[in-house]
Amino acid sequence: MPESIFYQPIKYVKGVGEARAKILSKLGIYNVSDILSWFPRDYEDRSTFRKISEASDGEDILIKASLVSDITESRPRRNLTITKVMVSDGSAFLNLTWFNQKYIANSIKTGSEYYFYGKIKRTGMLLEMHNPVVEKVDSEQKITGRILPVYPLTKGLTQNNLRKITENALNMVRGKFQEILPASLRREYKLSEVNFSYEQIHFPSSFSNLNEARKRLVFEELLLLQLAMIHTKGENTAQKGIKYSPVDMSPLLDKLPFKLTDAQKKVFREIEADMESEKRMNRLIQGDVGSGKTIIAFLALYKAVKNGYQGVFMVPTEILAEQHYKSASKLFDDLGITVRLLTGSMKKREKDEVKKLTKDGKIDIVLGTHAVLEEDAEFYNLGLVITDEQHRFGVRQRAKLSIKGENPDLLVMTATPIPRTLSLVLYGDLDVSVIDALPPDRKPIKTYAVNDAMRERIYNFIRKNVAEGRQAYIVCPLVEESEQIEAESAEELAERIRENELKGLRVGLIHGKLRPSEKEEVMRQFVDGSLDVLVSTTVIEVGVNVPNANIMVIENAERFGLAQLHQLRGRVGRGSHQSYCILFNQSKSEISKQRMEIMVKSNDGFEISEKDLELRGPGDVFGVRQHGLPEFKIANLYRDMEILKEVQSAVRKIIDNNLLNEDCDYRPIKERLIEIYNKRVKELSLN
Ligand code: ADP
Ligand code: MG
Repeated sequence: MPESIFYQPIKYVKGVGEARAKILSKLGIYNVSDILSWFPRDYEDRSTFRKISEASDGEDILIKASLVSDITESRPRRNLTITKVMVSDGSAFLNLTWFNQKYIANSIKTGSEYYFYGKIKRTGMLLEMHNPVVEKVDSEQKITGRILPVYPLTKGLTQNNLRKITENALNMVRGKFQEILPASLRREYKLSEVNFSYEQIHFPSSFSNLNEARKRLVFEELLLLQLAMIHTKGENTAQKGIKYSPVDMSPLLDKLPFKLTDAQKKVFREIEADMESEKRMNRLIQGDVGSGKTIIAFLALYKAVKNGYQGVFMVPTEILAEQHYKSASKLFDDLGITVRLLTGSMKKREKDEVKKLTKDGKIDIVLGTHAVLEEDAEFYNLGLVITDEQHRFGVRQRAKLSIKGENPDLLVMTATPIPRTLSLVLYGDLDVSVIDALPPDRKPIKTYAVNDAMRERIYNFIRKNVAEGRQAYIVCPLVEESEQIEAESAEELAERIRENELKGLRVGLIHGKLRPSEKEEVMRQFVDGSLDVLVSTTVIEVGVNVPNANIMVIENAERFGLAQLHQLRGRVGRGSHQSYCILFNQSKSEISKQRMEIMVKSNDGFEISEKDLELRGPGDVFGVRQHGLPEFKIANLYRDMEILKEVQSAVRKIIDNNLLNEDCDYRPIKERLIEIYNKRVKELSLN
């Protein structure tokens, strides 16, 4: 196939030539096939026009309007020309301004209608648009009236250049893409045809077509990658594990004050299937903060214990361990299951007792911090290992736990997977279940980014909510270098608001320098409602659950990572009350502003992790290269986990039935794999 039109050098595509070919080569685009796989990073919706009056500040929109003023031109500086005009569509007036685009004045006139596309700026009653794109309404529409791709660019190349080049390249190969996915596979996973997909990903005729096209291309990319990986890895690496028997879960379920959500049920079914199979379970539960992961862990532990095994549940902080221990005892004590706590701060005598009982098989479930990793913590017959908030643990710690039994099943839970975890999923070493819905009655948390000018209002707001019976957290600035300084500043803040801003309220304080028993006492007071406000360092970041608390104030929010802010925010919004997160942003930098904006706009942990990584810089868009994730052309694991799951099941079928080695409709996939493989080898030997 190398001589095919897809491999024609890029310089022969209309509109390219030698000079642009050189620029494109910087993006790794050398031929027709490369440019068609240079996928848009975003789209501009210029497909339907809207009313000027409906536009909100900062929005990109298409409007249809005529001129209602004369065109004015001014030259405030020698190399600056400003062209202005006012337009209207009957709903409102809009001021248009162009900078250094002198030709505009001659290309629009009174009496005709035009489409204008651009970003709306709204200041009070005044509406403005700078440098809008213009097209006459009755002309053949090229740049308006459709959804336009937005490509990643490089110096010397404009959006319009790339759009044109891509369109010309598409024209050369229209209908000539070879379909490598068998019809049966496409039917099963609802995948659109290849020619359709490439056209629609670049120039979609609707957003639903775009979604279909994207799904197919992502599926194909992940499928080829997984097949290639399994090939290099040497097929089946699944270890044998414990084969559990089915267990009637109703005694535990009946004790819950709520019904499992469908999302929780689905995930637990996947866990049950793993546990009952011969294969060793190695599964990640991804569920946003508050989605209800803890109960899933308890269900799995119950199943293990009922099968005669011990289970261990490891969490990153003592506060969280104690809290989980309390909820676990409430459920398990009456069911004749013994749960014990094991943390680093317990007295040696107590620890030794728990360890002895565990070794003798007298304890069913051990719940603790990394103390459970200590060498002398031994088990009688460990069958299930669960780690909560997995992003806080290293991979080695998990491995350490798993050797305490004979191939125990493994379950890890997290709200915000780190790239390293995603790469384990990608390479098939970790299966994934997603709790993709929150329990009912949860109101989305309202988030506000504010500055010091708002301080008084915020404290009044806290008073008002406390008067209604609610509670609030105030999280102090992060001091990376020193836990000591961090603790001191927390003390100062607590002191100050006790004396001044929140005088009369019951204000507690918790930080890393307190003794564990002191921490526990403060937490207990907050949980049982004898404190109104809890001033805290990030020790409350993960897992803490006080459903009555509905306000989370974060000081110097700009110092935190977004995933961390999301975790902190997740401490509220756990009950049926409307909850609020207030981010004090003390920085004036543009990046800080953007980061706060992401928090205000999104309540979705996946989206936030993804955006956070994007903001870290264009060099390493997903912050992933050093974590063993390959660069994708189109797939994005943060967004495409569901597609990856489908791909994994397709791959399993292909491998189990040896489809690649048979003369069947999977042949083209095999040929494509060989082609990719040869290309890689060639690239490697060239370098
Ligand atoms: P996370 O996923 O952040 O670990 P938790 O397990 O702490 O979430 O659960 C958050 C809160 O939601 C807890 O108070 C828990 O009791 C409650 N919860 C869990 N599942 C449900 C459900 N199906 N219906 C109602 N509330 C639930
Ligand atoms: Mg949790």
